[in-house]
Amino acid sequence: MSGPPPIPQSDLKRQYAEISAELHAAVDRVFASGWFILGPEVEAFEREFAAYHQVSHAVGVANGTEAIHLALRAMGVGPGDEVLIPDNTAFPTAVGVTSCGATPVFVDVDPLTSNLDPAAIEARVTSRTKAVVPVHLYGFPADLDPILALCERLGLALVEDACQAHGTGYKGRRVGTFGRMGCFSFYPSKNLGAYGDGGAILTNDAGLAEKLRMLRNYGQTRRYYHATTGINSRLDELQAAMLRVKLGRLDGWIEKRRRLACKYHGALAGLPVEIPLMPPIGFHTYHLFVVRCPERDRLAQHLAGRGIGTLIHYPVPLHLQEAFTPMGHKAGDFPVTERLAGQILSLPLFPEMADEELERVANAVREFYARP
Ligand SMILES: *Cc1c(COP(=O)(O)O)cnc(C)c1O
Repeated sequence: MSGPPPIPQSDLKRQYAEISAELHAAVDRVFASGWFILGPEVEAFEREFAAYHQVSHAVGVANGTEAIHLALRAMGVGPGDEVLIPDNTAFPTAVGVTSCGATPVFVDVDPLTSNLDPAAIEARVTSRTKAVVPVHLYGFPADLDPILALCERLGLALVEDACQAHGTGYKGRRVGTFGRMGCFSFYPSKNLGAYGDGGAILTNDAGLAEKLRMLRNYGQTRRYYHATTGINSRLDELQAAMLRVKLGRLDGWIEKRRRLACKYHGALAGLPVEIPLMPPIGFHTYHLFVVRCPERDRLAQHLAGRGIGTLIHYPVPLHLQEAFTPMGHKAGDFPVTERLAGQILSLPLFPEMADEELERVANAVREFYARP
């Protein structure tokens, strides 16, 4: 006997089915134009993405990692400098820092929000600290006001990693607009995802925007004239054309995510799993729906046995990654992140998920806890 169809943690095929005609029209337009790098589609997407955030400039780049790298580099951050980032984040946040030659310095997170703990930042600041990069993890806004105040007081730059937070709000404004620059990824599974790699940087600073445009295009100021070397990190016309189709639907998809998250809150109420906090002063976009419980591995296994996909974001804190062994950290250095890494589980959530699927997930969790 075959059971009910599996429920993936996320499913991009359903979204494609919904918008395929528009995507194909956009792609055809680019093919017919014969122009594929830095042209009208990228310019239009940059304008539209900036307008969505009510900022003056958006600069398209090749991915979110390079958005962070170039944002730091545009401010002159480089070798010998330190950049504070949360220990609890996607690995590429750290790569954005190492790519510009600077050293990432990890800070533990707030156990309630899973985001950078404003109170833990100052102890990690040294004379070499140049910037702080809070991450809006899972689409939940980091508490920016105390971090901004601290940056102001200590003369540090704030750059937001909004790679999981397209459309997320903090005190009535979209995130990615509070720091000197805000960095976004359009990795396919993100709330606004391309069909390949993509990224963007937001800023209200015209000088920085100009510098970013130069740095992403091997330092070119006008054709064949190079003020610096920069790197090659460009959003391409095909991705930009498809992102324009999807940007117009982003808010609708976010509403669907929020409705499903709200249903999860009801369906999981009373069970021993901890459900995600609703931000008191922000707008959560539920890039991921992350629950916590000490018996996480057994729960994940139980769900897998019923065809329900889950993921762990992320199983290994930055300070315990092999790549950072030279930094000399050990288990126990960042206790909150370490505890979370052992307890977090991302349940299925994507805009096209059916209510029946969500109920099946919730029932399977209930069944897990009902067992003797
Ligand atoms: C996805 C992501 C990135 C990097 O994005 P890429 O486009 O894959 O380079 C950076 N930070 C966070 C928090 C992310 O989730």
